[in-house]
Amino acid sequence: MVDSPERRDPMGYYARLGVPPTATAERIKLAFRQQAKHVHPDRNVGAGAKDAFQRLNEAYQVLSDPAARAQYDARALERPASPPPPPSPSASARPAAGRFRPVPASAAGAAEGVVVPVACSGCGAITAQPRYTIYWRVVSFVVGTLRQPVQGVFCRRCADRRGLAASATTWALGWWGVPWGPFWTVKALWCNLRGGERPADLNASLLRQQALYFWATGKPALARAALDQATRLVERPELRQKLEKMRLLIGEGGREHLVDRWRPAASWAFYLHLLPVVVVTAGMLALAGHLVLTVGPPPTLATGPAATVGATPPVHPPSATTAAPPPSSPPSRSADGASPPERWHVKAGTLTLRDGPGAGHLAIGRLHQSDSVEIIARIDGWVRVRTALGQVGFVAQDFLAAGAGDDEE
Ligand SMILES: [Zn+2]
Repeated sequence: MVDSPERRDPMGYYARLGVPPTATAERIKLAFRQQAKHVHPDRNVGAGAKDAFQRLNEAYQVLSDPAARAQYDARALERPASPPPPPSPSASARPAAGRFRPVPASAAGAAEGVVVPVACSGCGAITAQPRYTIYWRVVSFVVGTLRQPVQGVFCRRCADRRGLAASATTWALGWWGVPWGPFWTVKALWCNLRGGERPADLNASLLRQQALYFWATGKPALARAALDQATRLVERPELRQKLEKMRLLIGEGGREHLVDRWRPAASWAFYLHLLPVVVVTAGMLALAGHLVLTVGPPPTLATGPAATVGATPPVHPPSATTAAPPPSSPPSRSADGASPPERWHVKAGTLTLRDGPGAGHLAIGRLHQSDSVEIIARIDGWVRVRTALGQVGFVAQDFLAAGAGDDEE
């Protein structure tokens, strides 16, 4: 039993363009352009030309839009028992339509009420888990980017092949368009990695049809398994009701156990999709690491004696590091003296910070062992310092030692 063209093409849209229902998006586009040349009103003033062009355009508007085409294909699946429409006179009159010849109604199972299965549009196999899938392929031409759908009913194997081919093309040709190339490329690769777009209700209809076929051909266990899948996918309430009705028809009983072949990780293709992502990510991380090592550590690490214990030596000369002020130093320092800041620390015990150079001046604060200070000026054994908290005062120089204290990193 073969899937009949009439059933797959209920409005005759594919026939109008002269392509089979399995045609690629490019082939549909090409067929439209070729036929439009002959019947376009600007070029053909014949009586039927305008009407023919409108019919052609109507078909193309549906089949060139991935979502609309998917809906159209779904319609075909939801009306399995209805007889096909009579072939349009203009369709048979056009010579280009010869590539796709409709099968006579008597040969089409649908017209006789026989249930027609859903076959993979790639290999023709009738499987228990077919899916309508849309992959994306992106091709850029420097100043433009083209997104092309790759869609149809596929078995998992055929879907994997198409998805990988679409991603390979996209990896090679998608990026090089301004400004949207990289955006659409990433979006397409992400979509294909996850197994493409699979319209839920469309696939529920498709599985319902498949369940009906299995039931009609004496495989109730397989029919129940297909119906279970459909029930998991369905979103539209009317369709859910149809599935419930069908469940009553088939009845409860044993069912074939099917491993979900459409989980992303259930196929080797998923890892092949992932491979370039991993390679590119690793390459970028390696490059970033290389850049950090070449440029050196940030300048804050290079200031002060404590920083010299760091593993990576700074590449710039020492004079450059001392000239650069540490970001933590208060901006008012330049008013107190022109010399670069000099860091000392409290040797031992506690030390009183006073408001003048001498033991008689007022105590304004207290420093502890290893606290760092910045030397501002020296006056007779006393130094004017700025503490880590920004407080300015005087301490006796004897209690300080050169170099930053433990409180600084
Ligand atoms: Zn296949």
